[in-house]
Amino acid sequence: MENYQGLLNIQRTFFRSGETKDVQFRINTLNKLKDLIHAHEQAILDAVKQDLNKSEMEARRAEVGLVLSEIDFTLENLASWAETKEVPTASSHEGAKSYIKPEPYGSVLVIAPWNYPFQLAVSPLVGAIAGGNTAVLKPSELTPKTSAILSRIFNDHFPDEYLHVVEGEVETSTALLKEDFDYIFFTGSTGVGKIVAEAAAKHLTPVTLELGGKSPTIVHADANLDEAAQRIARGKFANAGQTCVAPDYLLVHSSVKEPLLAKLKDVITATYGDNIVQNPNFGHVVSDRHFDRLAGFLSNGKIVVGGKSDRSQLIIEPTILDSISWDDPIMQDEIFGPILPVLEYDDPSDIIDRIVKRPKPLALYLFSEDEAFHDEILNSVSFGGGAINDTISHMTSHYLPFGGVGASGMGAYHGKASFDTFSHYKSILKR
Ligand code: NAD
Repeated sequence: MENYQGLLNIQRTFFRSGETKDVQFRINTLNKLKDLIHAHEQAILDAVKQDLNKSEMEARRAEVGLVLSEIDFTLENLASWAETKEVPTASSHEGAKSYIKPEPYGSVLVIAPWNYPFQLAVSPLVGAIAGGNTAVLKPSELTPKTSAILSRIFNDHFPDEYLHVVEGEVETSTALLKEDFDYIFFTGSTGVGKIVAEAAAKHLTPVTLELGGKSPTIVHADANLDEAAQRIARGKFANAGQTCVAPDYLLVHSSVKEPLLAKLKDVITATYGDNIVQNPNFGHVVSDRHFDRLAGFLSNGKIVVGGKSDRSQLIIEPTILDSISWDDPIMQDEIFGPILPVLEYDDPSDIIDRIVKRPKPLALYLFSEDEAFHDEILNSVSFGGGAINDTISHMTSHYLPFGGVGASGMGAYHGKASFDTFSHYKSILKR
């Protein structure tokens, strides 16, 4: 196992030089990163295609596009976010002035997953740079082509003492986690999130944990079923269901189940064609292990849409399973693949009761026109974030901090929330 103390030491020395704290330095770095992404765009798209068979259109939007727009938004606002702000002074301290000064933590560690291997590695780095930190990035070993491009972009164009990519497997993560970083930003599974939290606790290092979970999608009796079918299919089957905020399972009112399933089937055929296993643009499952895990679910309940798979290509068709019960294997852990189990309900209080007894999900989606029902769900269920009459789109707004709660994570990022995540707010009273 390698020792990364030397890397952290040179980053610490560089951080202490004060260069990264200069706001113009941060702006210049973000501009340089933007230029590098543009210059490497085709290589990034090709790498993601090779790693996950992600189509160029999807990768352009969800990998490169989201990162570029995060950089632009940060560049527009960074100078004002980084200012020291005066706040009112309590009457008990009359005569004094009070300030809040955002300051970088120091050297941060970012550990990234494979499902959006470029976006989920670089987007946190945008926040780390904006906050004025140095950073070490450990991308996922399951997407080696993208990891290699990340290494090329950062290691060939920035000094190790500022931004550095360390490629490697679990042992590399484990070795990095032994070091005394000033902040850890982890995106990945809930199980590994606990390992990261434990390692961070040894040094009392603050963490953001962007984890997963089973995100329920509720379609009520009064929902617009055409919109629901379109938006559920898009959120669930993009990237072959390997999206942390994808609808995990469907809870549908019994009165609209049959028409909704018929519409979902039509949308899937219209979007991906009749022979999806041969569709060159449908995403692959990331590995044999994940393929076997997902294929095992196909015997749960009854297949009403899809069901075909090809292990040699790691493809599983968009599949809908009806007649599922809460006790089925597919209902125990996050699915993270293109399989949508369906459960029906009559009384909304039954599903609320079921959801709140489970670990807090990363997202929840509700399709209904009934404002009172929206309020009932929002007031009674804790989840990271979500959408009403839509899926997954909340995570692409700069104005909505993105993160989980409980088992789905802690902390948040995107837009100003990223700057806040990578900054310590120092309170000063001046007499
Ligand atoms: P993962 O937890 O297996 O791996 C994530 C990273 O942790 C990788 O870089 C990996 O090398 C490292 N890692 C793995 N095992 C480790 C260990 N024992 N000790 C230290 N480091 C270790 O997750 P994944 O399979 O890459 O990603 C899928 C999971 O990530 C899903 O649960 C998904 O919901 C979640 N996710 C969450 C978000 C979010 O923003 N909340 C985004 C994407 C994915």
